[in-house]
Amino acid sequence: MLRTVAPPPRSPARPARAADPDRRRTSARTVLRCVLEHGPVARSTIARLTGLSPASVTDHCARLTELGLVREATAPRRSGGVGRPHLPLDLDGSGLVVGGVHVAVPYTTVALLDLRGRVVAERRLPHPDTDPLRVLERAAGGLADLLERVPERRPLGVGFASGGWVDRAAGTVVDHPLLGWREVPAREVLRARTGLPVHVDGHARALADAERLFGRAGGSALHLFAGNIVDAAFATRDEVHHGPRSQAGAIAHLPLVGGTERCPCGRTGCLQAELSERTLCRRAREAGVCDGRDPLHVVDAAAAGHPVAARLLRERARMVGRAVGLLTDVLNPESVIVTEIGVIHRPDCLAALRGELDPARAATVTPTSFPESVLAVAGGAVALDVLYRDPLSASPERI
Ligand SMILES: [Zn+2]
Repeated sequence: MLRTVAPPPRSPARPARAADPDRRRTSARTVLRCVLEHGPVARSTIARLTGLSPASVTDHCARLTELGLVREATAPRRSGGVGRPHLPLDLDGSGLVVGGVHVAVPYTTVALLDLRGRVVAERRLPHPDTDPLRVLERAAGGLADLLERVPERRPLGVGFASGGWVDRAAGTVVDHPLLGWREVPAREVLRARTGLPVHVDGHARALADAERLFGRAGGSALHLFAGNIVDAAFATRDEVHHGPRSQAGAIAHLPLVGGTERCPCGRTGCLQAELSERTLCRRAREAGVCDGRDPLHVVDAAAAGHPVAARLLRERARMVGRAVGLLTDVLNPESVIVTEIGVIHRPDCLAALRGELDPARAATVTPTSFPESVLAVAGGAVALDVLYRDPLSASPERI
């Protein structure tokens, strides 16, 4: 017996093209991602790669060009025909930037990024105190100073990232124990101080977005961030997982086998207590390696041949490897990206990390794609993620 399917009810009040804005937005996103990944790229290639019609691609490219996001590359593509050569399209790197604010425990990093996630300008602002309002006001002032240096560029928006629990939807830092921040309305404060659209996220997720857009993460990816704060993010090709209230990736108190550090929660061997840069610095100070104020000093000491410094870094990398093993058992990602100071700077640390994993898994682990600018990229990536998800929302403004 044939089942009949009732036609959807007609809604005369609804305009016939009501679904078009969503489709336009999705298609514009697809075209911009294609230009990001393949540019310079011909319109005909974009049509082939995306499955959109040539007319639709031409239309979207025109709109994205108007917005200053793409432009025709200067060198014409080889063409056997006559008439106007087909100029391939590429991202427009000249006119637009996004601002980035990353708040770490000892300092804030402000930066301007171009559309490929490259750092145009950057400044580090030490914290005389960690009062949230003053930290965010100094950040807004730092961004304004950077924008004055590049008057030819227009800011599209600002991204804010930090460790701890950051709620993207609410725009708040819900809890950052090391800064002593609770329910800080970072989006509202920065928007009021900069006059720009502001987006916020946790820094592990922000860097997972940066890897997804500009770095190594091709398919599903785990990103592990081990700084003073230790957290993780999981991404597919198109999206980083947030979960309700953006609580995904809070791994500070996962138990680490072999851990010996007491955690403020009362237990021993919690992941953050074990892997925090504070712990590395304290151990380096106790071993007489350096004054223990900056983890980079431990890396410098190891580079200068200090055997204890190198051993401390390798031990930490091994524990990072155990954390990676724990998380990949659950998530089974195609790639693992690690932001950790030893793994970034030293091949022996990367080898120590990989040594904790089975060989097939070990081969998927790489350091961050942004070794020299990871904190500058983290803030801006929050704004760039929004831009690449909805390019038609781009509306250049001035601070
Ligand atoms: Zn704990």
